[in-house]
Amino acid sequence: MKIHEYQAKDLLRRFDVPVPDGGSAFTVEEAVEVARRLPGPVWVVKAQIHAGGRGKGGGVKLARSVDDVREQASKILGMTLVTHQTGSGGRLVKRLLVEEGCRIAKEYYFAVIIDRETRRPVVMASSEGGMEIEEVAARSPEKILKEQVDPAVGLVPFQSRRLAFSLGMRGKLVHKAAKVFGKLYNAFMKLDCSLLEINPLVATEDDDIVLLDAKLNFDDNALFRHKDILELRDMDEEDRAEIEASGYGLSYIKLDGTIGCMVNGAGLAMSTMDIIKLHGGEPANFLDVGGGANKDQVKAAFKIITHDPNVKAILVNIFGGIMRCDVIAEGIVAAVREVGLSVPLVVRLEGTNVDIGKTILAESGLDLIAADGMRDAAEKVVAAAGGAGGVR
Ligand code: ADP
Ligand code: MG
Repeated sequence: MKIHEYQAKDLLRRFDVPVPDGGSAFTVEEAVEVARRLPGPVWVVKAQIHAGGRGKGGGVKLARSVDDVREQASKILGMTLVTHQTGSGGRLVKRLLVEEGCRIAKEYYFAVIIDRETRRPVVMASSEGGMEIEEVAARSPEKILKEQVDPAVGLVPFQSRRLAFSLGMRGKLVHKAAKVFGKLYNAFMKLDCSLLEINPLVATEDDDIVLLDAKLNFDDNALFRHKDILELRDMDEEDRAEIEASGYGLSYIKLDGTIGCMVNGAGLAMSTMDIIKLHGGEPANFLDVGGGANKDQVKAAFKIITHDPNVKAILVNIFGGIMRCDVIAEGIVAAVREVGLSVPLVVRLEGTNVDIGKTILAESGLDLIAADGMRDAAEKVVAAAGGAGGVR
């Protein structure tokens, strides 16, 4: 789960790290009120969307008076902000953060993530802060410093100091930064984050450390123990189909291709996507209906797939273990009766009650393409979607 910058900053304040004073606003008047509370003489008005790159896209503006804040707020609120992370459609800005302006001497990058290879937290930092870290990683990877952390011990002070020193900090700044790094690592662990990213973390002209941007992503499997964080969820920022799917207990992730996939089991869903790509197609989604889905869930899954306008063909790939093929077949028939079917449908069924399932489909009179085995299914669905290379 993701949250907004102002929410992340509020959470981080609890860990005693230096965050600029400020507050959120849903209207221009609220933005002005927040600005009046702050001393000035410089304010920053920031679009709150679940994507980075706002500065470049025109979603972060300096203001030098309260009237200026009013003007910037009215420009940013309601704008469709396009950044390298939003896709070309952009995001509608509905919330703002108004905070005090900071006199920046230097911008750094700081992050904590879980490294899948070592299966440990890793702290990353770079002197190339403020810009897209992906670019730094591609152009000058040596500028990204890393400290592996033993989770039983935590980030030890010498690692924090080594990072600060390697970033080029000197004197008191090293100790100030090292303290902040330690606290940020603790926040990452205590909040069960999957990502904590501060870009930029800055040194000010007065030699202080301040977090100017903050991004926190959370491990969904740990959210049950963070009810307060769950309340920060902003449905407006999430894919509608994904929200609907989660309501039915389906694991659905929208992708950019043209072949809709309905599969049971995450492993089979992954290999179905692989084999589609192997045959030159592009999956439109990941969808795992789970091991024991009922007819309603199958129906819901089918509707979600067919609502995606990019879908040119659908592949149903079911291995009936706990899941019974006849249940899947009934779900498909019911869904098609209700929502219709405007694209070719390829079905591959195998396992428990496969014969009953096939009979249900055959007797339904639905115009579907039966497939035997994964490869046959992939070939047929890629052809049905317009052949290899059929990317939107
Ligand atoms: P994004 O990463 O989405 O572009 P940031 O919060 O990082 O948004 O803001 C972009 C840039 O704006 C920062 O790199 C920094 O230079 C500047 N900035 C952001 N907040 C402040 C602030 N409170 N005071 C001064 N400059 C700021
Ligand atoms: Mg940033």
